[in-house]
Formats: sequence, structure tokens, C-alpha cells
Amino acid sequence: MFRLWPTKQRNEVSIIKLLFCRNCKRVFSLTGTKQDCPCGECGGVYPDGVNAQIWGNALPLGFDNTSFFSALGNQPEETGMGGRPFTAFVIEQNCPTVEHVERASDPPTD
Ligand SMILES: [Zn+2]
Repeated sequence: MFRLWPTKQRNEVSIIKLLFCRNCKRVFSLTGTKQDCPCGECGGVYPDGVNAQIWGNALPLGFDNTSFFSALGNQPEETGMGGRPFTAFVIEQNCPTVEHVERASDPPTD
């Protein structure tokens, strides 16, 4: 699933983080709820909208919010180039707000 909006309101968003699954090539957004890729090879959680925890065979991606929201708010009718570009990036390996973890087990249910 690819969601454009994180769980917070637009004016509270600091960074949008997504995961690219190297196994099945899906891209999905991280939210406050722990989620695994449908292929089961990776997953992540973004509980506070700043610090993400990811696991498995994934690359974290980020959107430059300024260019992303500008593009969203200015969808062109026709450009001849396929649309309005925005800046996305592969988050660096040693990013202080992305922690690579072993997948935490789900809490036991009663
Ligand atoms: Zn996958």
C-alpha cells in the first residue's frame, strides 16, 4: 500500500519516510503501526513521526516535504513531461533517525 499522507495532519509533518522492499520491489509508507511487507522480508514502524525502526531487506526512502507538498498542490493539467517532479531520496545508511532492528515480536494476545 502506498499512502501519500502519514498519520499526522499535513501541517504537523516533518518528514515522510517510506520503505523500499529489495525482495519484492514494493514501496510502502511507514506509520505509527508496525507493519511488514506482504512478502515478509522487511518492515518498519514510525511511531513518533521522526524516528523510524526498520528491519529486514529494505531501503528507507524520504521525500523532501517542501517539493512534495508543492507538487501535490500544483498538479499540472499537462506538462508534456508526465507531471510535476518532486525530490525523493534514499536515506543514508548512518541516519540518526532510522534504526535497523531485529523485528520485534508482537505483544501476546489474551
Ligand atoms: Zn517485500
